[in-house]
Amino acid sequence: MLHFMHMSKIVIANWKMNPSSPVEARKIYTAIKKGAAKVKGVDTYVCPPFVFLPELAKIGTSRKVGLGVQDSFYEETGAFTGQVSPEMVAGYKAKIAIVGHSERRAMGEDNTLVGRKVRHVIEEGITAVLCVGESERTEEGDYYKFIREEIEVALAGVKRNDLKKLIVAYEPIWAIGKRAEEALNPEALYEMMLFIRKVLIERYGRAPALKVPILYGGSVKGSNAREFIEEGGVDGLLVGGASLKPEEFIEIVKSAA
Ligand code: PEP
Repeated sequence: MLHFMHMSKIVIANWKMNPSSPVEARKIYTAIKKGAAKVKGVDTYVCPPFVFLPELAKIGTSRKVGLGVQDSFYEETGAFTGQVSPEMVAGYKAKIAIVGHSERRAMGEDNTLVGRKVRHVIEEGITAVLCVGESERTEEGDYYKFIREEIEVALAGVKRNDLKKLIVAYEPIWAIGKRAEEALNPEALYEMMLFIRKVLIERYGRAPALKVPILYGGSVKGSNAREFIEEGGVDGLLVGGASLKPEEFIEIVKSAA
């Protein structure tokens, strides 16, 4: 049995650089909060742009619906123009921090830098959502090696005891921001989920590694969400585009239950 041992699934909304106003952000969050609160067996997190976090924290969180951020810096304070630290967001109820998203890696983040961020997020008591994913799939299957390296380097400073504050999100870059039909197929996801689990077991041992949730992200919609969970065997979903549409997002949360 190579599956995660907790009962609840996890669904994370990554709003990216959206929406354009706090009014809209409040509206979407309020609708998600209301809808997701009714779904049993799923923990939902919304990751807005930093600037909206205090607004949404005021609306509140619950046992079922929490807040997070889309990135996090590896120092607490200092001369780092434009950066935000986990210490700063903890006071605004952020419980998770996405780290190493492919859109940030495309701006120049490498595995070592991502690893520093992961470590610092965990030190602050926030759960790090480490994103990994290949940009293309070749027949030789060398993307497995690529994913292994992304995980091993980013987790170099993460100890066994820290694993309760870690989530791994597998997001193949080529499947992000597309139509439902262009997402990864569930059988291929199942293979990758097992591989990621194996990499974690090799490094940390079986019992601790089985506690790390593995999520899938990449064009998850209301129409395909269920198959990633049921056939892909993942512990939850990371949702970009569809997380800005409350109705569709709630449908995804229900599918995960
Ligand atoms: C993402 O980029 O984290 C993501 C999953 O995006 P989308 O759902 O839009 O593919």
